[in-house]
Amino acid sequence: MSDKCCIALIAHDQKKDDMADFARARKTALARFRIVATGTTGGRVLEAAPELNVMRLKSGPLGGDQQIGAMIATGEVDMLIFFIDPLSALPHDVDVKALTRLATVYDIPMALNRATAEKFIDFQKD
Ligand code: PGA
Repeated sequence: MSDKCCIALIAHDQKKDDMADFARARKTALARFRIVATGTTGGRVLEAAPELNVMRLKSGPLGGDQQIGAMIATGEVDMLIFFIDPLSALPHDVDVKALTRLATVYDIPMALNRATAEKFIDFQKD
């Protein structure tokens, strides 16, 4: 496995345009990372920045959030960028909570909005 830092990208539906724009605008910085993403988010990221190395997992509501949580627990994911939608009820809210809980338990950098993601992606070295 590559020793590049691995970043997980997830965006809720109302934030996917924002994630695609972030990937397009920050593709040079993101290219320093291995990227894993939930299924739909990963598709949008690859459309926006096809040169990025993105491993797509299952869609979030179908287990993708839990896959990323497991990868945090095993040390395969080093950072989480998760553009959450605080204004919509989500059927998989328990998975979202479990994922952010694991990111806290394992003390990895976690950005839950774009402003934070913009700040810490510049500081992270591979
Ligand atoms: P998605 O999953 O990227 O497959 O839409 C994100 C989510 O957890 O809602």
